[in-house]
Amino acid sequence: MTNKYMYFIANWKMFGDLRSINSLNKVIKFFKIFKKKKFVKIIYCPPNTLIRAMSEKLLNSKIEVGAQNCHQNENAGAFTGSVNSKMLKNVGAKYVIIGHSENRITGETDKLINLKIKSAIKSGLKVIFCIGETLNEKRRKATKRVLDRQISLGLKKINKKNSNIIIAYEPVWSIGTGLIPATEELLGIVNFIKKKSNSKKVLYGGSVNPKNVNVLNSIKNIDGFLVGGASQDAKKFIDIIKKTYN
Ligand code: PGA
Repeated sequence: MTNKYMYFIANWKMFGDLRSINSLNKVIKFFKIFKKKKFVKIIYCPPNTLIRAMSEKLLNSKIEVGAQNCHQNENAGAFTGSVNSKMLKNVGAKYVIIGHSENRITGETDKLINLKIKSAIKSGLKVIFCIGETLNEKRRKATKRVLDRQISLGLKKINKKNSNIIIAYEPVWSIGTGLIPATEELLGIVNFIKKKSNSKKVLYGGSVNPKNVNVLNSIKNIDGFLVGGASQDAKKFIDIIKKTYN
């Protein structure tokens, strides 16, 4: 059981169309009652194409909307195919995920991620900053070294006390695989991240589902979950939230 303020972030990745927004009806109904009893924050991060419609749908529900990435330049410019943080804010986003491993793998460097975080903050978005080691790095026992680098370069010249940055620890080997870190190990890593980053909020992400959330939630220094696959199913997402408070 927890009475802590917990975050539940739905990362829809490149899934969903206008019709899938109807699945939020269940979540809105659930949250209307649940939010009165518990300290809980829900944030949906759909593809950019759905941000506007989702923000309208969630109006007055206290459920917030975020984007999944942004360009490093907050001003308009000749960047074909890109969207900046100001534009995202303009259509209703309050948050943006930055540094997700699915973007790091396509070439996003720590330096670029740092620029993106700065630009998002300038535009007034809150940042969900993703970090995590690959399986290879874990096997080489380089986890803390990798996290240390991702934090110090990603947050370079950014006030560490900035409460608008939430960190999501997402081991790459855990995303979409059904695998989660061992409890003791995760406890140590989250403590390490909190110390290094000064961040008050550190979430866990990677294969979170209604079955394993009890185990994950027994790790008391975690402040919530970034949920990919399971978040596209309203029932599963609600179950994750309910079980966290059981
Ligand atoms: P998953 O994804 O829950 O499907 O493992 C998490 C994420 O990539 O944010």
